[in-house]
Amino acid sequence: MAKYYLPSGMRYATLEERKQFYISEFNLSEVAQWFEKCIGKVNFAVIIGRHTRIYPEKYREDADTTIIIDEYHGLNEVRDQILEFLPESAYYDRNVYDENDRKTGQELAFDLDPENITCPIHGSLADKMKRHQGLSFCALELQMVREQAISLYEYLENEFSELRIVYSGRGFHIHVFDPEAYTLSDKKRRELARTVKAKGFGIDEWVTAGEMRLIRLPYSLHGLVSRIVVPVEKSELERFNPVVDARCIPKFLGEAFTS
Ligand SMILES: [Zn+2]
Repeated sequence: MAKYYLPSGMRYATLEERKQFYISEFNLSEVAQWFEKCIGKVNFAVIIGRHTRIYPEKYREDADTTIIIDEYHGLNEVRDQILEFLPESAYYDRNVYDENDRKTGQELAFDLDPENITCPIHGSLADKMKRHQGLSFCALELQMVREQAISLYEYLENEFSELRIVYSGRGFHIHVFDPEAYTLSDKKRRELARTVKAKGFGIDEWVTAGEMRLIRLPYSLHGLVSRIVVPVEKSELERFNPVVDARCIPKFLGEAFTS
């Protein structure tokens, strides 16, 4: 098995690049729009350097830690805190809390990742793990995960109506904003995760079942692949190619790079 890592053109972002991105490209009005329908306060989170091992020296001890950002006034302050940590990844908490910080529900989401796809060339996740390539993926896996996002969307449309797809940097997320999806029981979520998995979709069951409550923040930078996390319309998914699509390519990679 030949060594492989990421589709060509994808790579880790440096600290300086993360900084540049969050100063000049991170679009707070788009982020605000994403949370428009949310009731209550949103908690954010960052991971500084767990996978990339790239972190500001002063945060060496916290490079692996999931740092929760729950004390802020306005998204400007969230950005300020992101700029302080310069993380490889930024997330938000799908849990919905009341004014006493009690959980009242959770946004339903599906996380389709290339590592959960069995690739005709690189094999299953177990095969990849054996080679210590659990986070690697190839262009073919990316294409397969996109096909899965399209069919999972169509499957979910039978039950839900307010669906959004997000290119997550590696694969795709499908978010469900139907009000009744927020109050699904844990049991129902686990069943849904199992059903979808049994249908052959390469989802991360933990995300759908709710144990993993964090999800990548739309419009943030995915620092492992140097791509911007962006919502994508279902109708354009068929043609969407994150290797070259201008919407998800940060300026630091250069304009010549985009198609
Ligand atoms: Zn592959």
